[in-house]
Amino acid sequence: MAEKTLFEKICDREIPASIVHEDDLCLCFKDISPQAPVHYLVIPRKPIPRVAEADASDQAVLGHLLLTASKVAKSEGFAESGFRLVINNGPDGGEAVPHLHVHLLAGRQLQWPPG
Ligand code: C5P
Repeated sequence: MAEKTLFEKICDREIPASIVHEDDLCLCFKDISPQAPVHYLVIPRKPIPRVAEADASDQAVLGHLLLTASKVAKSEGFAESGFRLVINNGPDGGEAVPHLHVHLLAGRQLQWPPG
C-alpha cells in the first residue's frame, strides 16, 4: 500500500492541524506557514494527488472544495472584503504536497500577478 501523504495523515488525525471545517468529503485547516493573515487549505479526504489527476468521478468533490472555501470565507467573515483561491499543480506550479489542496488566502490586498 502506498505511503500516506502528509494531508492524509492530517485527515486521519495522525498529524495535528488547526481544523476550521470538516465534513464527509473534505477538511479545511490553517496553513502551517501562512502567506497572508488568513491562509487555509481545503483538501479532499480522497487522496487525489493533484487536479491534473482528477477524473470525471471526482467532479462532485472538486465542486465541493470550491463551495466549501466560499462557505468558510462567509462564516469566518472575510468573503465581503475578498479572498483568493489557488491550486498549485506539479513542479512548475509550485506544488509541494502531492495531495490536492485549495489555498484560501485573505486578510490583505493580494498582489497580481503571483510570482
Ligand atoms: O501548493 P503547495 O503544495 O506548495 O502547498 C503546500 C502547503 O502545505 C504549503 O502552503 C505549506 O505551508 C502547507 N503545509 C501545512 N502543514 C504541513 C505541511 C505543509 O499547512 N504540515
